[in-house]
Amino acid sequence: MTRPLTNWAGNIRYCAHAFEQPTSITELQGLVATSGHARVLGSGHSFNRIADTAGTLVSLDRMPRELEIDSPRMRVRVSANWLLGDLCERLHRRGLALHNLPSLPHISVAGACATATHGSGTSHASLAGAVQALALVTADGTRMELAAGDEDFDGAVVSLGALGVMTYLDLAVRPAYDIEQYVYEELPWTDLIASAGEILSSAYSVSIFTNWTDCAQIWVKRRTDDELPDLAWLNAVKADGPRHPVAGMCAANCTDQLGRPGPWHERLPHFRAGTEPATGNELQTEYFVPADLTTKALHQLKELRPLLAPVLQTSEIRTVAADTAWLSPTHGRNSTAIHFTWRPEEEAVRAVLPHVEDVLAPLAARPHWAKIFMASPRKIRTLYDHWWDFSRLRHTYDPRGKFHNPFTTALFTASDDDR
Ligand SMILES: Cc1cc2nc3c(=O)[nH]c(=O)nc-3n(C[C@H](O)[C@H](O)[C@H](O)COP(=O)(O)OP(=O)(O)OC[C@H]3O[C@@H](n4cnc5c(N)ncnc54)[C@H](O)[C@@H]3O)c2cc1C
Repeated sequence: MTRPLTNWAGNIRYCAHAFEQPTSITELQGLVATSGHARVLGSGHSFNRIADTAGTLVSLDRMPRELEIDSPRMRVRVSANWLLGDLCERLHRRGLALHNLPSLPHISVAGACATATHGSGTSHASLAGAVQALALVTADGTRMELAAGDEDFDGAVVSLGALGVMTYLDLAVRPAYDIEQYVYEELPWTDLIASAGEILSSAYSVSIFTNWTDCAQIWVKRRTDDELPDLAWLNAVKADGPRHPVAGMCAANCTDQLGRPGPWHERLPHFRAGTEPATGNELQTEYFVPADLTTKALHQLKELRPLLAPVLQTSEIRTVAADTAWLSPTHGRNSTAIHFTWRPEEEAVRAVLPHVEDVLAPLAARPHWAKIFMASPRKIRTLYDHWWDFSRLRHTYDPRGKFHNPFTTALFTASDDDR
């Protein structure tokens, strides 16, 4: 093994007995076909054991990174192992853009799509929503391709790594655009509650940061060809310098603010490529609630502030448009994503999570697949209409459970009364 086998946060030590880095598709097919258990690792930014295996952990880091542009259809075919930041730079040079990006560009395209990674924007689905086709190496080493409209396609996009190894994805693109980013602060909590929907839909991409005290911060990312949002009616103050989402932290690693226009991929993430994202020392959790229940969720979570405060660094509230991927937490419903950046104290975080989940359970909150959650598999299964369709897909593509790991086995092992 050559790569240090922990995740980015350092809370997970992968237990694989082998770490392989094939350099070609043929080598990858042979490796998968002959492995007992296998799992593919992207850039290792997940906070739970979703990417883990006791068998062979496969990294595509040494495979070629390819980019084919289909201009007439406004699509690109990209190797699964591109890091978002590198890919976006290349796309931008060709005058193209993705519709949205998460807070950091450091992660792999396949890892992001496999877990429904998202940014913010009432009209923007997660990255998985841009996928038009994909190729998989399945358990017996066979290559298969699926495209939008194929029967299994919606099941294969957000796959949690459980169907096989994605080798390429076709993504919808659009002409490149510029964004300006403004931070507002001191938003009174009462205004946030009264106007959460209006604030979140006031620009191309909006994030609200709060530690559930009496005020919050708003990050507004406006396309330069859109109207300037008028937020003067809010009792918030435009920041007079760059800000970090966690109060008091230096903003040097954050993307440009203060309304300086710049390319989409240098403004939509909160953190710059090539620097340490976020606080660099944290755990994360996130839940997706139906957009029309946002205010209710915020009200109830605020009541938990005394419990949250000792372990919380900040919370982020974003919007994500509905998509059609079976296991996407935003499947079939426009959603508000409520995120928690925790101090790196997993035991303390796990003590708080049941309280958060109790409050959000009546709102049918779905947890982010790549972050820490406690909800039982039985509860989670009830939240997805296509749960058993996906389970069937797993059996079809991977009849012997090569890609099973404890994370997915727990989720998909049903008792009769689950069905
Ligand atoms: C600082 C920080 C900020 C974050 N911000 C956001 C955010 O703004 N929005 C958000 O939604 N999430 C966010 N995340 C979570 C992150 O997007 C997910 O953890 C994402 O899965 C990371 O991608 P990865 O390449 O590191 O995947 P990994 O953690 O390596 O893997 C995740 C899953 O993807 C599967 N996978 C990876 N590659 C392939 C492949 N080629 N074929 C099939 N399956 C594959 C793995 O098997 C595993 O199941 C953040 C994480 C961190 C650390």
